[in-house]
Amino acid sequence: MTKPVEQAQSQAAAPPPEVAPAANPPAANSPADNPAPATPVAEPQPNPPTVEQPGTASEPPHAAEVPTPLPKPAEDTSSAAPAPVPTPVPTPAPAANPDSGKPEATKPEADKPAVAPAGEPAPPAASQGEPAKEEPKAETPPPPPPIAKEEPEELKACLADLAALGTQFKTTNKIEEGEGCGIDQPINVAEVLPGVDTGGATMRCKTAQALGHWLKDTVQPALNIAMPGRKITGLVPGSTYACRLRNNASTGRISEHARGNAFDVAAFKLDNGDKIEMKPRGDDHTMEGAFQKTATAGACLYFTTVLAPGSDAAHEDHLHLDTMERNGDYRICE
Ligand SMILES: [Zn+2]
Repeated sequence: MTKPVEQAQSQAAAPPPEVAPAANPPAANSPADNPAPATPVAEPQPNPPTVEQPGTASEPPHAAEVPTPLPKPAEDTSSAAPAPVPTPVPTPAPAANPDSGKPEATKPEADKPAVAPAGEPAPPAASQGEPAKEEPKAETPPPPPPIAKEEPEELKACLADLAALGTQFKTTNKIEEGEGCGIDQPINVAEVLPGVDTGGATMRCKTAQALGHWLKDTVQPALNIAMPGRKITGLVPGSTYACRLRNNASTGRISEHARGNAFDVAAFKLDNGDKIEMKPRGDDHTMEGAFQKTATAGACLYFTTVLAPGSDAAHEDHLHLDTMERNGDYRICE
């Protein structure tokens, strides 16, 4: 509100010096009448706001103005030709480019690396969600990968770790549903930690292992501070194991849920009967909001993909966690 007033004042103060030139600008005759005023210099700037001044500098301002109105871009051919030829009059071509900004010939693929994760959505290459896989080769056609084979030694160590955590689980038979869906050595987890109910959710050992350590070493300690005396007694699961594509889409990459690597937390159950529901907390300044944000941030230490509520449209009411394997221990946490 204050700005308008300031502007008005500045304008009021300015009038004196600019009075004469102000009248002239609109008229095309001005140059003849008042060659002295540098007004022409000021005019060229508004039209071509682009940074490409080199072209305009070499030529008179008037010439630059004329070409800009032309909507016809030189496209690739014009831009490519001028470069090799040392002709001194290449300026017209560059002037046309400013409109498009960057030559269209440039590779738009730069986006691929990692733009913004869009959650589990993988259909479009640019989406981030359960981010694009480390495999750059498979872009469009998503060939269902084979079910991940558990390494005997790794599995043995993992199961021993679950025993140490006090996880209540049982091993079950291999799941293989085709289309890449399945788990080589699944386990059903009744309690990921003693007294923390997970409803018998099916997953790979390493997923349960990440869940257990996250809850024990980060989530419960955070709750001890946020709500002293409260204990987590369970997780209200969202999606656990499910043979589907990311975000339940009809096309795209297979979800980590279909491989036993993912677990969605819809809410934490507390010993007093309360639930802490996962939801967007961007504007939540409560202690409960602080707790969720702490738990979510801490999850990135245990999981390679963390998609918090609000990270995209597909994750409004749950926290997506998965242990997708990527090169270099790369992780995406949003
Ligand atoms: Zn999920």
